[in-house]
Amino acid sequence: MEENEFDVVIVGGGHAGIEAAAVAARRGTRVALVNLTADSIGRMSCNPAIGGIGKGQLAREIDALGGLMGRIADHAGIQFRMLNTSKGRAVQSPRAQCDRDAYEKYAQQLISEIENITVVAGEVCDIEFNAQRQVTAVILSGQQRLTCQAAILTTGTFLEGVLHQGLENVEGGRVDEGASHPLGKTLRMLGVPVARLKTGTPPRIALDSVDLSVCDEQPGDDVPSPFSFVTGDLSEREQIKCWLTKTTARTQEIVRDNLDKTAMYAGRLEGKGPRYCPSIEDKVVRFADRDAHTIFLEPEAVGSNILYANGISTSLPADVQLEFVRTCIGLERAEILQAGYAVEYTHVAPRSLLPTLEYRDASGLYFAGQICGTSGYEEAAAQGLIAGLNAALAIQQQPSFILQRHQAYIGVLIDDLVVSDPSEPYRMFTSRAEHRLLLRQDNADLRLTPLAQELGISCELRDEIFAKRQRDLTAARAALTSKPYPLPVANSGARSLLDMCKQPKFIGWPAMFEMHPDLLELGVPLCDWQTIEADVLYAGYAIRQRAWVERGAERESMQIPEDFDYSTAQGLRSEARSCLPESRPATMGQAGRMPGVTPADLAILEIALVRWQRASKNLADV
Ligand SMILES: Cc1cc2nc3c(=O)[nH]c(=O)nc-3n(C[C@H](O)[C@H](O)[C@H](O)COP(=O)(O)OP(=O)(O)OC[C@H]3O[C@@H](n4cnc5c(N)ncnc54)[C@H](O)[C@@H]3O)c2cc1C
Repeated sequence: MEENEFDVVIVGGGHAGIEAAAVAARRGTRVALVNLTADSIGRMSCNPAIGGIGKGQLAREIDALGGLMGRIADHAGIQFRMLNTSKGRAVQSPRAQCDRDAYEKYAQQLISEIENITVVAGEVCDIEFNAQRQVTAVILSGQQRLTCQAAILTTGTFLEGVLHQGLENVEGGRVDEGASHPLGKTLRMLGVPVARLKTGTPPRIALDSVDLSVCDEQPGDDVPSPFSFVTGDLSEREQIKCWLTKTTARTQEIVRDNLDKTAMYAGRLEGKGPRYCPSIEDKVVRFADRDAHTIFLEPEAVGSNILYANGISTSLPADVQLEFVRTCIGLERAEILQAGYAVEYTHVAPRSLLPTLEYRDASGLYFAGQICGTSGYEEAAAQGLIAGLNAALAIQQQPSFILQRHQAYIGVLIDDLVVSDPSEPYRMFTSRAEHRLLLRQDNADLRLTPLAQELGISCELRDEIFAKRQRDLTAARAALTSKPYPLPVANSGARSLLDMCKQPKFIGWPAMFEMHPDLLELGVPLCDWQTIEADVLYAGYAIRQRAWVERGAERESMQIPEDFDYSTAQGLRSEARSCLPESRPATMGQAGRMPGVTPADLAILEIALVRWQRASKNLADV
């Protein structure tokens, strides 16, 4: 058997896999990135778009920690939009429509440029462990053995994947790509809890068959906002237009009349789909009283004839898809280039993972991405980064890296995951983050890049840009503070120009620069002025939230030992008594967020934990 030696082997080169590989290599470990084929590394399985509400924040945080996603999206972006601009800055999220091919090609290029990564094309079929259940190697079909101390499984929708269209199904991870089977057996033999989930994709429509004159145009922003803090100005980027259209009453009728022709409604699917990204079948059933549903028609590249029909994900038979698509406004003569389908796959129960994403019951085995029960590129990439970083840190015998909920959306994502047993794919929303006023997309670098620098996963360019941003913010803030408030109000003497940002109807930066042209002379980019504006606007909330975090931090981060005996916590309600030992939360914070655990349970648990700690200390002293 051919044998090669690595420190970390990443199984799967999707969005989780490439971030895991990049960060582990940047930490200096020797990485093998194994993917079914080399040319599908970084492929966008579904919509070629990065970001969106909540997801845009994740993408910015991944970038602030030195990840690849933001740079790839900026390179491949063909339409950039800042979403939620009518709402507060805290919930504004960037989104970019990308050129699908350019995205994967650039991902492959960046991976090839990172030292310490060896790309291996092939299927991982098995994982070897020693007697202490420590990973020692992964085995590829064709008898190749890669020795390693850590394996990170990021198999996406491929593990035992089945594609459904109508009542027909074929094995596969996504269209025209085979499924991966043997690893499922390995996981079951190891005792890893697994279950099934499903997701789906809409039909792709020929642009030249659509009557765009009756659709609403959706252009990109005049000034595109990049995802990456190291990307320069994108204002010269050629941007495409997208379009909006709608289903009609006839569409609903056709879908409703054919529900029994889908595997889901015919009861042939085990896995549940994402509630927040429903198929047109689910929409018609769940929102029966709605007259119409919006469809976003999004080109897959500049000059491409392929339109991604966002909003009508479906697994109806291909002929029914064509029939209902042609009842939508502007799509009366539409040609379908690729029919929609659903994919059902095996995932692991994320509650069996530690917050480092290492499996609790075997050392060196990590999971990240869709295999952990999430949906979406950004959620996958964020987990890949955390798993890759922690695998490298563990090998280097360094403390693990865990982000708290008040530090990052990534912290919220992983904290939510490791206590959950998802009955549907998990996706990020701003509403999941209780500290969202602190976790803005514009301050992701200020929150996280210093941590990346400490961990040695930043780079020279990022460090330089970050230092300049800090200097600019200081200079801009000083300039605003030194100028008196310009309006004749009673207590204006004590107020400065900085207070203008607090006004409910802030006049905006162009008007500010017109009134005070010397501000422009500082050469500070607009995004820095906007960060200051948001900081000032949310200063009151930030103080309150920080105080809350500090007060709660002590309890929140109180560790619950892996071997803690919950029966010593006398008085727990029966629900808490059954779910706590099963999920084994790592901290009191996690325990408190579990459904079924009340504040009263937490108080009992805290007392029992203090007693347990005292008893353990006494034992150690003996
Ligand atoms: C049909 C479909 C519809 C989707 N719809 C949506 C949606 O509506 N919204 C949304 O946010 N997300 C959607 N997604 C999900 C999105 O594509 C994923 O969340 C994201 O790609 C997950 O990233 P990942 O890295 O976990 O896995 P993937 O991107 O799936 O990558 C997995 C990689 O692992 C490799 N691999 C698998 N098994 C092995 C093995 N044994 N050995 C070696 N390599 C292996 C594969 O070659 C693949 O490159 C959809 C995905 C599909 C397939």
